[in-house]
Parts: sequence; structure tokens; C-alpha cells
Amino acid sequence: MTALRTQVAIIGAGPAGMFLAHMLRQAGIDAVVIERRDRAYVEGRVRAGVLEQVTVDLMHRLGLADRLVREGLVHDGTKLALDGEPFRIDLAGLTGGATVTVYGQQEVMRDLFDAAEAAGLTTVWNAADVTLDGMDGPCPVVSWRDAGGARSLTCDYVVGCDGFHGVSRHAIPAGILRTFERAYPFGWLGILADVPPADHELIYANHERGFALASMRSATRSRYYIQCGLDGDIAAWPDDRFWDELCLRLGPDAGGRVIRGASFEKTIAPLRSFVAEPMRWGRLFLAGDAAHIVPPTGAKGMNLAVSDVTMLGDALAEHYRDGSSAGIDGYSRRALARVWKAERFSWWFTSVTHRFPTMDGFDRRIQMAELEYIRSSPAAQRVLAENYVGLPLEVA
Ligand SMILES: Cc1cc2nc3c(=O)[nH]c(=O)nc-3n(C[C@H](O)[C@H](O)[C@H](O)COP(=O)(O)OP(=O)(O)OC[C@H]3O[C@@H](n4cnc5c(N)ncnc54)[C@H](O)[C@@H]3O)c2cc1C
Repeated sequence: MTALRTQVAIIGAGPAGMFLAHMLRQAGIDAVVIERRDRAYVEGRVRAGVLEQVTVDLMHRLGLADRLVREGLVHDGTKLALDGEPFRIDLAGLTGGATVTVYGQQEVMRDLFDAAEAAGLTTVWNAADVTLDGMDGPCPVVSWRDAGGARSLTCDYVVGCDGFHGVSRHAIPAGILRTFERAYPFGWLGILADVPPADHELIYANHERGFALASMRSATRSRYYIQCGLDGDIAAWPDDRFWDELCLRLGPDAGGRVIRGASFEKTIAPLRSFVAEPMRWGRLFLAGDAAHIVPPTGAKGMNLAVSDVTMLGDALAEHYRDGSSAGIDGYSRRALARVWKAERFSWWFTSVTHRFPTMDGFDRRIQMAELEYIRSSPAAQRVLAENYVGLPLEVA
């Protein structure tokens, strides 16, 4: 057994773990990232693609924004469509200039990993059987096995950034951890194709056959989704069937502008809302998907992971610099205040845009009335816009 020592052990090298590692390095705090998979696997996962200003700001602050500035697509509006009739939400006009930036999670991870290698951040890849001990005592220990054998890492604090299926959350005793969950009775069938997008902005479409989203990763790469059943079989969705259904749900305007091509990625993802409280127990903190999941409607998942670690990184920096525990003691409360507001928005946006199997005529007309109200009311549009671009960090 090789025994190691650091100040902060970070479990998981996804967005939460790597952003935090860079923040701690900038603050002169020693950290080790322990990841179950290898870099290629983590970087290759096709996931989020819309960055809030909070995420863009952190990339600038860490000196990681060169490619983002060159290649990211800044969007000052987004579109909704009801039964094929689109209308625009002027994000910047309604929020005093706020925008979102389209830049794929894969690109974010590449920037984080390249900079980590250049800066010599310590990352352990392919760490198996990660276990956490002593989180409620003065000397927490993280253990794992890798190619070199069994390891144990003693530290001051552990941050669980290991996603929804990780081990960290389970280190909090059942009598202390509370979880809140909503599983949705449908999923998203998503494809990537190297064709120009149908529109220069995202289109969230409510159609009586189900939800559709027209999104993109660049001016030449499109990301499209349609709502599908949970028992959906990808083999039942050859490209032609997907394109036909997408165009139908987007309506004649946007659907007529869809350029078809061979998909090179096709997956079905379930939708879930989930929150675990508290986000700190003893010397263990949780951040990102380890503590909460949102349905992807509204693109909050990765941005929430980033807002968590922005708060936590600053609190740990203050702690090591000044000896103050105020920031780390308040972390769970501050993070959860923002998390719940994003949970609410993601749940609401999912509720008004998707077809639920139990929906009857009344439910459908209420949904249509809500979208018509948003179409006609600047006040309703403003509420949507300020949530969509991301709430400020301090929302307690
Ligand atoms: C299919 C899919 C599509 C998505 N689409 C969107 C979208 O369009 N928009 C959006 O905003 N969000 C989307 N998300 C959510 C977004 O990708 C996540 O919110 C984001 O990745 C969270 O980052 P994280 O670092 O907290 O967790 P993760 O990205 O899950 O990273 C956790 C890391 O921990 C590692 N790990 C897990 N267990 C262990 C262990 N025991 N030991 C060590 N390491 C471990 C994992 O390998 C992983 O690298 C999507 C998610 C999925 C699954």
C-alpha cells in the first residue's frame, strides 16, 4: 500500500472535478484528482453544450477561454414553438444584455485537460474501487487501486465530484442524507450530425406528438433531440425515421430548413430531477451531478456543476488563506439555494414542453395556454429569459 498526502482530494475528473482542481491550483492549494476512467473516455462523452455566463466567466478567470472565445457561438436569443409556430425570446433584451454560449462539454473538457497537463495538475486515471473513510474525523482518507497497486491518500478535505453514479454521496450516513427525486415517463433520443443547423438559435418545440429540440455544437455540426418512450430501442430509429419525426415536430418553418445527413452519434437518455441534501458532511463536500440532476431541458446540468465549484473553490481558498471557515460552513446552504431554483426551472420547462402519457385534453389546453401566455407577455418572457441565461451566484 502506497500512502500519499494532499490538502484536497477530488473524486471524479468531470467538469466539476477539473474546474475545482484548476481553481485550487490558482489559489496555491495542493489537490489530487482521482478518476475511475481514462482521459479519452471522459473527454469523449457527448453531453452538455450551452454555457451560462457563470461558466464562461470561470473559464476566463482560469485563463482557459482562448478557444471558447474563438469557437463558441454567443446566442442572445432562443426560440419556442407551439405546434410548429415559432416565437423568439430576446434573451439579451429581456435581461439587460445577458447571453448564453454554445460550446460543447467535450470542448470544455479538452481545454481543462490540456491546461491541467501543462500545469502539472495531479490526476490519477483508471482508479478502481475508490473508498472514502473518516469523513467525520480530522483525517479523511481516500483509497483506491490502480496499475501501481493499492493507494491511500490522506487529506484535509474530500470533494465528491463523481457524478450521479459515484461513491461519494453514499459516504454520508443514511440518517443524515435526504434525497428528493422526480423521474419522468419519457426520454430524449439525441443525434449528432455534421450538417449546418436548421436555425442559428436553439428551438424548443412543443408538438402534440412530443417535444423536439433543434440545437447545435458549431456552424457545421447539429445536435437534435426528440422525446421518446423510456423503452425506446435505438435500432427502431434509423436516421430517416428520426429526421421525419424531427421535421414534423419542429413544424414547416424550422422543419423545412433542416438539412439531413448521416448521424454519427445516437443515444437515448432518461430524464430525472434529483437533489441530495446536505452537500457537506464533516470533511466531505459534494458538487455537481454527485448531488443533483436536472432534466436537460434548459441546459442547466453542467452549469450547476460549475456554479457549485465556483462557490466551493472560493470558500476553500478563503479557508486556506485566512483560516476562516465561514465560506465552507455556508457552502451547502448557498449551493442548494441556487440548485433548487435551477431544479424548479428545469422541471417547469420540461413540464410545459413535453407530452406526458397521462395528459388529457384539459392538461394539453393548459399547456398550450401557458405557451400562448409566454408568447404574448413580455413579463412571462422575462421570467423565462432570466432563468435560461442563469441566475446570479448569490440567490439565497
Ligand atoms: C446523456 C447525457 C446528456 C446530457 N446533456 C446535457 C445537456 O444537454 N445540457 C446540460 O447542461 N447538461 C447535460 N447533461 C448533464 C451534464 O453533462 C452533467 O450535469 C455534467 O457532466 C456534470 O458534471 P460533473 O462533473 O458533476 O459529473 P460527471 O460529468 O458525471 O463527472 C463525474 C466523473 O466522476 C467519475 N467517477 C464516477 N464514479 C467514480 C468513482 N467511484 N471513482 C472515481 N471517479 C468516478 C466519472 O467517470 C466522471 O468522469 C447530460 C448528461 C448526460 C448523462
